[in-house]
Amino acid sequence: MKQYQHWINGKWTESKSKKTSKIENPATEEIIAEVSEGSPEDIDAAVTVADKAFYDGRWSMLSPGERSNALYRLADLLAKHTEEFAKVESENVGKPYKNLSLAGDIPFAIDNLRFFAGAAREVHGSRAGEYFPGYTSLFRKEPVGVVGQITPWNYPILMAVWKLGPALAAGCTLVLKPAPNTPLTTLMLAELSKEAGIPDGVLNVVAGGNEAGQALVDHPKVRMVSLTGSTQTGKRIMQSASQSLKRVHLELGGKAPLLVFDDVDLALFAQKATFGATCNSGQDCTAATRVYVQNKLLKDATEMLVEAMKSVKVGNPFDDATEMGSIVSLKQKNHIMGFLDRAKQSGAKILTGGGSPKTIEKGYFVEPTVISGVSQTAEVVQNEIFGPVLTILPFETEEEAIQLANDVNYGLASSIWTKDVARAMRVSKRLEFGTVWVNDHLPLASEAPHGGFKQSGFGKDLSSESVSDYLVTKHVMIGGV
Ligand code: NAD
Repeated sequence: MKQYQHWINGKWTESKSKKTSKIENPATEEIIAEVSEGSPEDIDAAVTVADKAFYDGRWSMLSPGERSNALYRLADLLAKHTEEFAKVESENVGKPYKNLSLAGDIPFAIDNLRFFAGAAREVHGSRAGEYFPGYTSLFRKEPVGVVGQITPWNYPILMAVWKLGPALAAGCTLVLKPAPNTPLTTLMLAELSKEAGIPDGVLNVVAGGNEAGQALVDHPKVRMVSLTGSTQTGKRIMQSASQSLKRVHLELGGKAPLLVFDDVDLALFAQKATFGATCNSGQDCTAATRVYVQNKLLKDATEMLVEAMKSVKVGNPFDDATEMGSIVSLKQKNHIMGFLDRAKQSGAKILTGGGSPKTIEKGYFVEPTVISGVSQTAEVVQNEIFGPVLTILPFETEEEAIQLANDVNYGLASSIWTKDVARAMRVSKRLEFGTVWVNDHLPLASEAPHGGFKQSGFGKDLSSESVSDYLVTKHVMIGGV
C-alpha cells in the first residue's frame, strides 16, 4: 500500500503527531493508501516556511516570465504523468478512468495550468497618471501574501489547480489542505512542482481534516483563505476569518435549475441534462438538479429524461463502457439516500432509480434518479443533494420560470433551453447565477470566470479574474518631480 506524507518546504514530511489515516477506493471498498494526518502543528510548520518563502522573495521577486515558465513546466509534467494521475484519481474518487484521462479532468487541469502560466505575464497595475499637480500616481498590483487554500473531494486535482494556479501566477506562496479522503493527486502534483522549478516552501500541501483546515484559517500569518466546499463550511470560515480580517474567497454549493421552454430540441435536452446530472455521479456544484418544463412539453420531456437517465451505464470505473462510477464515500452515499428516503416518505414519485444498482455488489453506488410530484419548497428541490438526482416541476410562463429558478439560496449555475435567442437573452439577464448556459449544461473553459452569487459564495475560480483575486492594489504617489 502506498504511503504519503505532507509536502512541506520541498520535501515529504511526516506529521508531528505521527498519526496517519487510511484512504479508501469507494468503488471497491479497498484501502489503497495511508496518508499522514495533519494537525495544527503541521499547519504551523507549513505556514512558517510559506511565510519565509514569501518575504525572501524567492517566488514573488522572480520575473513574471520565470514564474510563467515554471507553471508551464508543471503543466508539461502533469501531461507526461496523465495516465498515473488518472489511475490514482479514479481509484481515490470512484470516477470513470476515461473521464479523467481522455477529455476529462487531467487534460483540463493541464489546460488550466497553461492558462495560468500565460496569465502570470499579464499581472500589472492599471495607471501612471497625474491626479494632483506635481505628483505621479502608480496603481501597483501586488501578491496578497501567504494564502491558505482548502479543497473538496469531488474534483481533487482540478480544485487543487484552480487554487494554486492563480495564487502562484499572482506571486503568492501557499499552504493547501485537500479534503481528508482525497489528498492523493494533490500531493503528487506538489511533488512535481519541485521538478518544475517552483522553489521549496512556495507550494506546500498538508493532508488532514477539518481541524487542520481550521488551523489554516486561524493562522495569523495567513493573509487570505480560499475555500471550495459547502456553504455551511464557507459560513464557518468567514466567521473565523473575521477575527483577523483575512480576505476570503469562497466557492460553495449549488442547486442548478434547467429551464426548458416549449420550442426546445427535446432529444438534445434529455441527453445533455442526463450528462449534467450524472457526470461525476452528480457530485458537482454546477450539476443539473432542478428541471422546470413548460407545461405543454411536461409529459414528453419527463418520458425522454427518464429513458435517458435509465440508460446511463453505472459500474466499474475502469470499464470503458462505464458512464457513471461510484459515490465518493459511504458517508456521502448515506447523505444522498437520506434525501431520497425522506422524499419517498413525503409522497414524492420516484420515476426511475431511488436506490443502489442491484447488480453491483461492492462499492458505494447510487442509481440515476428522477423525482416528480414534489413542490418548490420540498427539501429535494431547495437543498444540495450532491448525487445523480433530478427533480421535475412544471411552469406556465417565462416569468414563472425565472421566479422558480431564482427561488433557492444558491446562485452558482443554471441553464436555459430554447431556440429563441431573444428569450435566452431576456432570461439569462434575470437569472441570479454566476453561470448561465444556453442549450447546454456543464462546459467550462480556462478563460471563463467560475463562481457564485448569493450563498454560493464570491470570488472567481479560473480566468484572469481569479488571478486578480490573489492581488492587492497599492497606490504609489511620487512627488517632487
Ligand atoms: P466541505 O465543506 O465538507 O469540505 C470542504 C473542505 O473544507 C474540506 O477540505 C474540509 O476538510 C474543509 N473544512 C471543513 N470544515 C472546515 C473548517 N471549519 N475550517 C477549515 N476547513 C474546513 O465540502 P465537501 O463535502 O468536501 O465538498 C462538497 C461541497 O463543495 C459541495 O457543497 C459543493 O457544492 C462544493 N463545491 C463547490 C464548487 C464551486 O466551484 N463553487 C466546486 C466543487 C465543490
